[in-house]
Amino acid sequence: MTATLMDGKALAARIRADVAREVAELGHVGLATVLVGDDPASHVYISGKHKAATEAGIEARDVRLPADTSEADVLALVTELNADDEIDGILVQLPLPGHIDETKVTYAVAPHKDVDGFHPVNAGNLYLGTPLHVPATPVGCMELLSAHGIDPTGKEAIVIGRSEIVGRPAAMLLLQANATVTVCHSRTADLAAEVRRGDIVVAAVGVPGIVTPDMVKPGAAVLDVGLTRTEEGIRGDVDPAVADVAGHLTPMPGGTGPMTIALLLESAVKAARYRRGLLAYPTL
Ligand code: NAP
Repeated sequence: MTATLMDGKALAARIRADVAREVAELGHVGLATVLVGDDPASHVYISGKHKAATEAGIEARDVRLPADTSEADVLALVTELNADDEIDGILVQLPLPGHIDETKVTYAVAPHKDVDGFHPVNAGNLYLGTPLHVPATPVGCMELLSAHGIDPTGKEAIVIGRSEIVGRPAAMLLLQANATVTVCHSRTADLAAEVRRGDIVVAAVGVPGIVTPDMVKPGAAVLDVGLTRTEEGIRGDVDPAVADVAGHLTPMPGGTGPMTIALLLESAVKAARYRRGLLAYPTL
């Protein structure tokens, strides 16, 4: 079997075109990105998000602060952005330098402006099955499944990874879509045995090639989220030879990555709708 590739680049381009139309209809959507410090990967991510936002007609404010910025100054900036009428969405790029408490900063962002979906109000609503802002990467996975006609209802879904950014929200979205969900992590006793049951597999670990062909059920849909930069280039969590066994597979790169950016832009539009009362946000 050679898997159908789930082309995230093409789907992301369609979503971005829809976002651009919605931004034009709304007239103005403002997104502030905040980056503290010199992490080279974070600078690349933020530049990519900023460029994509600008291309979609979103007014993107690119705030970059030196690594020694105090926690109080970051919190004061977030408070300012919360009150700023030009700003619909706020994204604080993680990780923050060690002297800044990420939890405090995440809690400080106004929930309706929290386009990343990391604030406990947003995480809690996802848990309750009433999603508001949801982290972009797992939403991108669900969109890829949907675009390929894969309905999770009644399927075994195996999520590898339990971070607040990818694994947990992916599990919640799959559960809400009526899959039977198993979440694996570093203490899972027999990862291969769990993954082998999966009709849908989401790999969000950060260990190149951890999902090997012998672990995959023939015909499964495999979404590769893990992304590791190596000397040979970007490697995913999924061994490319899985394409011989899986029914559907995201390419790496060109799969879940471009979808993350597209869904983040969609979140910015959602934030603008929340703020204008066009969509209901419970705490507004
Ligand atoms: P993370 O916070 O480091 O979480 C990794 C998860 O993998 C943890 O839950 C960890 O388990 C689990 N894990 C580690 N080793 C394992 C093993 N040997 N077997 C099973 N599980 C194992 O990372 P993250 O933020 O979720 O990101 C995961 C990966 O996705 C990273 O490579 C990141 O760069 C990538 N990423 C890609 C996109 C995209 O758009 N494609 C977006 C975000 C992140 P414990 O909880 O037990 O430690």
